[in-house]
Amino acid sequence: MFQPEVERMRITFLGAAGEVTGSQHLIETSHRRILLDCGFFQGRRAESRKKNETFHCDPENLDAVILSHAHIDHCGNLPQLYRKGFRGPVFCTDATADIAEIMLMDSAKIQREDAKYLSRKLEGDHPPIEPLYTSKDVQGLIENFEPCPFSEWQSLSENNEVRLRFQPAGHVLGSAIVELEVKDGTEQKRIVFSGDLGRRGMPLLKDPVPIEGADVLICESTYGSRVHPPSQDIKTQLKKIIGDAYVNGGRVIIPAFSFGRTQQIVYFLNELINNRELFCLPMFLDSPLASRLTHVFRKYDHTLDSDVQETLKFDDDPFGFSCLTEVENQQKSIELNKRRGAFVVIAASGMCENGRVVHHLKQALPHEENSVVLMGYQAPHTTGRQIAEKREFVRIHGRDVACKANIIQLEGLSAHADVVDFKWWFEESTKRGHFGQVFLVHGEPDSAKALSQTIRDYCDEEPIIPQFGDSFEF
Ligand SMILES: [Zn+2]
Repeated sequence: MFQPEVERMRITFLGAAGEVTGSQHLIETSHRRILLDCGFFQGRRAESRKKNETFHCDPENLDAVILSHAHIDHCGNLPQLYRKGFRGPVFCTDATADIAEIMLMDSAKIQREDAKYLSRKLEGDHPPIEPLYTSKDVQGLIENFEPCPFSEWQSLSENNEVRLRFQPAGHVLGSAIVELEVKDGTEQKRIVFSGDLGRRGMPLLKDPVPIEGADVLICESTYGSRVHPPSQDIKTQLKKIIGDAYVNGGRVIIPAFSFGRTQQIVYFLNELINNRELFCLPMFLDSPLASRLTHVFRKYDHTLDSDVQETLKFDDDPFGFSCLTEVENQQKSIELNKRRGAFVVIAASGMCENGRVVHHLKQALPHEENSVVLMGYQAPHTTGRQIAEKREFVRIHGRDVACKANIIQLEGLSAHADVVDFKWWFEESTKRGHFGQVFLVHGEPDSAKALSQTIRDYCDEEPIIPQFGDSFEF
């Protein structure tokens, strides 16, 4: 365990160091210990369980957590921190607080299933494996959330020793760049954490905000070596795919992540229907998690970009329309299999591995009048990857399913900055201030290295790519 006695300010990287999940960074002064993010490591079940069950800081000794956004690799391990004794405040934006509650409740369910699965795999006579946390831990944690508005300084302590401000990061609803002003004795430092940096011109979200430099910047580097392909006009593509399905009497299956991607698609469909560019054929949102999250988008629609504000002037719900039905339960979801004629289903999960989308795919793939629309990256060995490769047969529930449907892969909705976006953000930010020491996290080694070259000229010091457990004083 890392020792808390600190003479100077210190930062220790406890996750997302040299990899893209498990975001967790500890900032210590002589009086305070603050954790930036407390995310899950994600990957193979047993391996991630091992990484996630141990904390390398003492939960009881932490003064506060600051959460950049509600993706599970940034907030997923917070309930376990609570279970192990952390009772301090969790500062985040108000939308992030609402979304994190939904995501963590869902995650508690997954923890229960994972523990059951791992217990079954145990050989010999062992006590069953406990879930990392339960919904009770999530409830306890949520009570300590301190939702904050964007762009206003908050004091984290009575004597103004630590001040905090959230700025829009343009990555997902509620996502923030975290600005900290930390006083320790006579020293004062400006520490900034990018969280996950988004892109300019993305649907729904306001653009990321350039900042006024920082003494210490912790910056993500997920796509630090990549230039995203030009954004396709997703709305026009959806119009064509669904229009064709209407003519052919086929069904359109859209596997989509519940948080962010689903709401973007529903928003585009709503626009097409408002503009009378699409016939209002039956459409189904078949993911209870996505439905709950969509309610949060409605609650915070006034914080979304100018296009949404324009829509709101004549349409009070940009995330719903008369022919869109939210599917209530598993039974109703399965009943859709018997439905005839053209219709559209948007269902979790994104890479087609589990969730209700699997049975829709099983039904739709063997028939050529149907379409499957894939969005974004499909990891190797996933069902989504097999479909994307247009294999003759796709393995689902242990059986080979013929893949005759029309497969369409749409690009252009990545929520992460690429090289061009990073360059823009660093350039604009250095017009307003300067960067002292930059630490590059949340990226595979090649991405972090490439980004380090790209931003070198915007920093006073050579950027550092920390490894897990690395500690730096400043
Ligand atoms: Zn994220």
